[in-house]
Amino acid sequence: MNGAILVLSGPSGAGKSTIIEHASDQIGEYYFSISTTTRPPREGELDGVDYYFVSREIFEEDIKAGQFLEYATVHNNYYGTSLKPVKEALSEGKLVIFDIDVQGHRLVQAKMGDFVTSAFITPPTLNELEKRLYARSTDNDTVIKNRIENAKKEIQAVNEFDFVIINDVVEIASSKFATIANASRLKKSAEELEKLVIHWQDGSK
Ligand code: 5GP
Repeated sequence: MNGAILVLSGPSGAGKSTIIEHASDQIGEYYFSISTTTRPPREGELDGVDYYFVSREIFEEDIKAGQFLEYATVHNNYYGTSLKPVKEALSEGKLVIFDIDVQGHRLVQAKMGDFVTSAFITPPTLNELEKRLYARSTDNDTVIKNRIENAKKEIQAVNEFDFVIINDVVEIASSKFATIANASRLKKSAEELEKLVIHWQDGSK
């Protein structure tokens, strides 16, 4: 596999999708991994674009069938990444971008560490996150409170990531994201490094 994986985590409302969209013409060809979830679609979200929206029964069948690279329960719903499209994109040499939670990051890191670069994206403060979640008004009070509680836990895992992007001004955050995305393509697996050493030694004769 020649591709690379870039894992993005951070609280809902951190602006991950906006940042990717903003930087999309600066990061070359990439595949954005569309997750499967049991959470109901928000207004404006489309099946097959934002997520694959499925029932708990279907999700649990997919778990049994071993279809997920990783999955986790977030905010009382299942979220998971299907293995097949990721493998295909990697074998085509693409950069695969994941928007997954910190549990998902740990699992992907454990399985595919060689290919993984990670960045945690967050608004500057908890207050600002709260403001943004209420301003986008896509969730009710209980859901927002649940997301804020989850965000307080997720920030504790920030030191597990290679990079942190504070999303204060979206243009600046997007430009930082583009730098990280382009650098992540240059990451070499242990196998590639071994080959490089052999080639380097042979070439010096
Ligand atoms: P939201 O409901 O706001 O779209 O997403 C809630 C959280 O679930 C976010 O932190 C997002 O990164 C995470 N998430 C989305 N897809 C996946 C996935 O496939 N796996 C995991 N582990 N987390 C996911």
